[in-house]
Amino acid sequence: MKIQSIRGFNDILPEKIKRWHRIEERARTIFELYGFSEIRIPVIEFTDIFARSLGTTTDIVEKEMYTFTDRDGSSITLRPEGTAGVVRAFIEHSMYAQSPITKLYYSGMMFRHERPQKGRYRGFYQIGAELFGSKEPLADAEVIIMLWRFFEAIGIAPYLKLEISSLGDENCRPAYKQKLVEFFMPSRNQLCEDCRRRLEVNPLRILDCKKESCKQIAQDAPSMLDNLCSECREHFESVKNTLTSLGALFVSNPRIVRGLDYYTRTVFEVTTEELGAQNTVGAGGRYDHLVEELEGPPTPAVGFAVGMERIILLHEKKFPEGFQKEVDTFIAHLGSEAKKTAFLLAYELRKNGVFTEMDYENKSLKSQLKRADKLGVKYTIIIGEEELSRGKVKVRDMRKSTEDEMNLEDVKKLAIKFRI
Ligand code: ATP
Ligand code: MG
Repeated sequence: MKIQSIRGFNDILPEKIKRWHRIEERARTIFELYGFSEIRIPVIEFTDIFARSLGTTTDIVEKEMYTFTDRDGSSITLRPEGTAGVVRAFIEHSMYAQSPITKLYYSGMMFRHERPQKGRYRGFYQIGAELFGSKEPLADAEVIIMLWRFFEAIGIAPYLKLEISSLGDENCRPAYKQKLVEFFMPSRNQLCEDCRRRLEVNPLRILDCKKESCKQIAQDAPSMLDNLCSECREHFESVKNTLTSLGALFVSNPRIVRGLDYYTRTVFEVTTEELGAQNTVGAGGRYDHLVEELEGPPTPAVGFAVGMERIILLHEKKFPEGFQKEVDTFIAHLGSEAKKTAFLLAYELRKNGVFTEMDYENKSLKSQLKRADKLGVKYTIIIGEEELSRGKVKVRDMRKSTEDEMNLEDVKKLAIKFRI
């Protein structure tokens, strides 16, 4: 037997890991800015947790799960996604009793038995976030904007499209489903086998079918957005208005169905045209009844998950050189007193979270500025003996090529806590 990894499971080698670290770091920084804390959940749960959360007629539960019988006879499953486990933990640890709002994020490997291809694997990484406890449109908007800030912070936002829709709720969705059944019934025999079954059990799923012939038929299907009840319509409008007020660019796409049954109202997807067939880098939405369905107290919630491999593929394509080395400031110095001051100042600035470099030798100002330029720093702090005797230093804006004199004590207090 050849020694090799299981099909669809990849190694991430050291030469690639830096990019993963940087991207994960920025996700953490941004999510924490928005008040989310990490939760680490097991990679395996009772099968029931997934079947009940995702819905038994979804692709994942029907054909993609890695399910085993444990030694004691119980059915257990490698997690195909993160939300079900997070909700299970949220209920199990009574987090709802500790705070009206709970914000959690997770990151880790997911397992789905799919046909492996570029951007689609059997073991893959997701980062996701969940906000529990608010049904307000502000919560939906906040989660979406946070995700968008993450994409901006790693530089890929210009290559992404944000699409949003609403799936309605228990008031308006049943009637819409009925409309879909009526719409598809006459073309029943032209639908694929899966969709014929979906017509009976879950007609919404037909809108998500990847088969060309089904897509054709579905083209003129009634849209959920035209069939929302007034509460759902208002909610959707409010999410969109809030996003617009933050300057977010998005398009309404009533075709978004999502592969999981637990969504209500807002759903969204982030796609790219850069990766071929595997074009969705992340997706999410609101799920107001899932906590209840897993026997927790009624708790509205909204969240998302992004696929790390697809983000990495896109980032590699757009930034083949990786992340630029990050240096905010370079400290140039002239004379031995200035050099000592420079060393202390570098210490202070790094303590404040400012990425700082300096010259350890006694090079000429010209050669120090050359190095600062090469590092691509935003500011060079120049410490000369004369200015120092007055407690001052020069701060040179490298982009604008302008110089200002500042008090050394003020410069020491400069802080960049988050580079995003
Ligand atoms: P797709 O339509 O591509 O199958 P999905 O709707 O099944 O995606 P979700 O369950 O919403 O995906 O998961 C969120 C994100 O996780 C996806 O947008 C994608 O980036 C990533 N993802 C899902 N399945 C895989 C996989 N098999 N391999 C790599 N990434 C994946
Ligand atoms: Mg899928």
